Parts: sequence; C-alpha cells; structure tokens
Amino acid sequence: RTSVNDPYSRGMLRSKTVEDILTPLKDCFMLPSSVVLDFSTMSEIMQSGYTRVPIYEEERSNIVEILYVKDLALVDPDDCTPMTTITKFYNHPLHYVFNDTKLDAMLEEFKKGNSHMAIVQKVNNEGEGDPFYEVLGLVTLEDVIEEIIKSEILDE
Ligand code: ADP
Repeated sequence: RTSVNDPYSRGMLRSKTVEDILTPLKDCFMLPSSVVLDFSTMSEIMQSGYTRVPIYEEERSNIVEILYVKDLALVDPDDCTPMTTITKFYNHPLHYVFNDTKLDAMLEEFKKGNSHMAIVQKVNNEGEGDPFYEVLGLVTLEDVIEEIIKSEILDE
C-alpha cells in the first residue's frame, strides 16, 4: 500500500497544516550572518548534524540566507572566510509558506521545487500595531513524510 494513495493519509494530508508539524524557530539551528567560518564555527556546524543552516541578520526571525553544509567543502577554516562570502556565492533561494498551508499542498511544492525546506510564516494581527509577518519555524520534506508514516502506523 502506498502512503499517499491511502485514504487515511490523504485525509490527514488535507486537514493537517505545516504549523502542526514545523520545527519551532527557537529549536532551529541557525547562525548570524556576521560569523566567520573559522575552525570553531565550522565544527559547530558539523556537530549540529543538519544539512541546511538558516542564516539570520540581527534577530533570529529575520532569516536572510541559507547555508548548505556541502557549501563548506572547499572552505579552509584557516582563511576565516566570512559567512556571507559563501552564502552570497551559492545564493540558495529561500522558500516561504504560510502557517495554514495544508500538507498535501506542501508535498506538491516540495515535489515541484528543488528545495526541500520552507520557512513558515503567519500574519500576526494580534497586537495593537499593524499586522506583520511572523516567522514560526522550518518545515522540510522529512517532516511531511514523517506525518504520512505516522498516520499509516495508526491506521493499522
Ligand atoms: P537534515 O537533512 O538536516 O537532517 P531533514 O530535512 O532530514 O534535515 O529534517 C529532519 C528534521 O530536522 C526535521 O524535523 C526538520 O524540520 C529539522 N531540521 C532541519 N534543519 C534544521 C535546522 N537547521 N535546525 C533545526 N531543525 C532542523
């Protein structure tokens, strides 16, 4: 039985949203754009174990770039290369989705695009001031697949 064709998974994919499954911003491994790629920063990135590292400016909610760990293959820690030299060179696109995006739509997006990570944002109009975009966290193809597998197991 293939997951996405299964009626249970399909219903789940239609009803659950990316907000239900994202990795919250506070738990994301990210680095400021001001860091240099010295030995200590490169070790920290390797030890995080993640494939992609969002890069922010000033505050964590302001993600400006994304570093792929494979971009570091030719970087010599002794050169103390600024992070922005690498991120501007590779210039991987950032993908944003809204918090209420359903998992079936997210899965289609991931299948179409070549990036399997998206930044989840919502329109925050709770306060007194003007509404603003608030970054909630990250969602990857892996998170969607995990949900499909979970629903398959529950169904059995
Ligand atoms: P990776 O290839 O880095 O392991 P995956 O796309 O396989 O990333 O995702 C595995 C889990 O890790 C998912 O829950 C995803 O949301 C989360 N994740 C991915 N990148 C990061 C990061 N930089 N910081 C925190 N969590 C992350």
